[in-house]
Parts: sequence; structure tokens; C-alpha cells
Amino acid sequence: MQDSLLYPPKRKTVMDNDIERILIRREQIARRVAELADDIARTYKDIGKGGLTLVSILSGSIIFLSDLIRHLPMKMRIGVITVSSYPGARTTSQGPKLQQQQLNIDVAAQHVLIVDDILDTGQTLDVVQQTLRARGPASLRTCVLLRKPGKAPPHVTADFVGFDIENVFVVGYGLDYNDHYRNWPDIGVLRPQLYR
Ligand code: 5GP
Ligand code: MG
Repeated sequence: MQDSLLYPPKRKTVMDNDIERILIRREQIARRVAELADDIARTYKDIGKGGLTLVSILSGSIIFLSDLIRHLPMKMRIGVITVSSYPGARTTSQGPKLQQQQLNIDVAAQHVLIVDDILDTGQTLDVVQQTLRARGPASLRTCVLLRKPGKAPPHVTADFVGFDIENVFVVGYGLDYNDHYRNWPDIGVLRPQLYR
């Protein structure tokens, strides 16, 4: 476990009133992210000088990614891929749409780690895993901060999971509702009257 954790100080925000309850506090998130980084570092300890290739699924994973990578000791390259499964004001998946040529890094023969915010129905990860596998990586693993129960098909799995959570729509720490709340430092549930 690292001796310093990455999270912002407590202060009031205009978003606080929109949150019904906090599910995971910033201190818990920070502690778990450091543990995940330890697991990942152990898994890739013999990776060699080519290092790791991270592929971050935009935009929900940006904060998780930025905290996670600062705990990782190996050389790495960072790519991003765009998938939108909740366009606009929706809280149920409309099916992921992989925009073409949205992967900005070469993954052939690389050790690839996908980083995503949350595994829910698994549709997003399924598409991304297939896309990356088709490009011939040396290895392919997946890390998600959150995982919801029961909806993902058995072949869509994550190798590293931060927290298993209940089946509720969450915001904060990178996760949005209608593109807001990504900068809220904890992970919480919105007041139901805010959903359109
Ligand atoms: P899946 O394709 O597994 O159903 O969903 C994955 C994507 O949907 C995630 O990367 C995330 O962007 C979005 N998503 C799923 N559940 C939630 C949630 O509870 N809150 C938010 N803000 N986004 C979610
Ligand atoms: Mg996402």
C-alpha cells in the first residue's frame, strides 16, 4: 500500500444538493485505486522494456486512469478509445456505438490493459475487447473501477475490479449524468427527481 493517496480536500460544491447519497467516498476510492495498482504492478512485473499499453475508454475513465497510472511503476503508453452507450440524458444503455478509427494507438504485439469506469451490461467492454483482440496484442487484460451485478454475459469479464456495487445509476469520479458530475470527487447516487 502506498503511503500517499490521491484525492481532493473536502469542500462544498454546487453539485452536493443533487446527490441523494454517497456510495463510495474519495478516501475509499483512493485506497482501492492504490491496491489495484499494486495488483497490476505484480501481474506485469516481468513485462520488460517495451512496457504496458493502456487503452482508456472515454470519457468515464479519465479520472480513474489519471489516479491509477500515477501509482504504476512500469513504462507505459496511453491510448484512448471512444464508445458512447449513454448518449445524453439516458440512464439505460442504448447499446454501444464504436466510432470508427477512434483508437489512437497501435496495439499489435503489445501488452494491453483496457481501463474503464464501470462494467454494467458488458456491451461496451465486449465491443472494445473484440476490437483490440482483432489487432493482435501480445496480451489483453481489463481493469474496471466499478462492476454491477448480473447483467454482463459470461465471456465479458474484467481481470481487475475496484468495487462491486449495487444496481443503481451512479455519478462522480469521472462518471456522468448528461455530461455533468464527472468532477464530483466521490461516487454517489443522484436524486431521482433529476432524471428526465
Ligand atoms: P455497459 O456497456 O457495460 O452496459 O456500460 C458501460 C458504460 O456505460 C460505462 O463505461 C459507463 O460509461 C456507462 N454506465 C454504466 N453504468 C453507469 C452508471 O451507473 N453511471 C454512469 N454515469 N454511467 C454508467
Ligand atoms: Mg464509459
